[in-house]
Amino acid sequence: MEDTIFDKIVRREIPAEIVYEDDATLAFLDIAPNNPGHTLVIPKKQSRNIFDITEADWLAVMKTVRKLAPVIRDAVGADGVNINSNHEAGAGQEVFHTHVHIVPRHTGDGFTLWHGTSYQEGEAKVLGEKIRAAL
Ligand code: AMP
Repeated sequence: MEDTIFDKIVRREIPAEIVYEDDATLAFLDIAPNNPGHTLVIPKKQSRNIFDITEADWLAVMKTVRKLAPVIRDAVGADGVNINSNHEAGAGQEVFHTHVHIVPRHTGDGFTLWHGTSYQEGEAKVLGEKIRAAL
């Protein structure tokens, strides 16, 4: 698998403001934060994204996200956080090493999230059946 900038951070080949580390994960401040305190949590082991990461690595990342979210919120006096993660270029992924964003949010900070759409009559049922059948 292709080396990414995050692998270099894991190996300490390039600097990062690391805030947490354990055997399986690393967390560091995003270099271009949406808000101060914006943190990225990554598995140390290489994976591209949700489509190839092992369950154990993904759960380890989630465990670290849960640990850090309240600490980051309190460190910057935020009102909440958004936890988001992009998987593949079509979904906005730019660095192809699995990562989860923890973005501190403040009431009225002006960020807008995705707009909702609606299903045509019967469309949700067909889609629900298709997904259930594939599991
Ligand atoms: P994504 O679009 O989900 O792939 O997000 C990649 C994120 O990595 C962006 O928010 C970048 O600002 C961040 N990023 C890229 N290079 C670095 C770096 N060297 N250190 C910290 N964050 C970085």
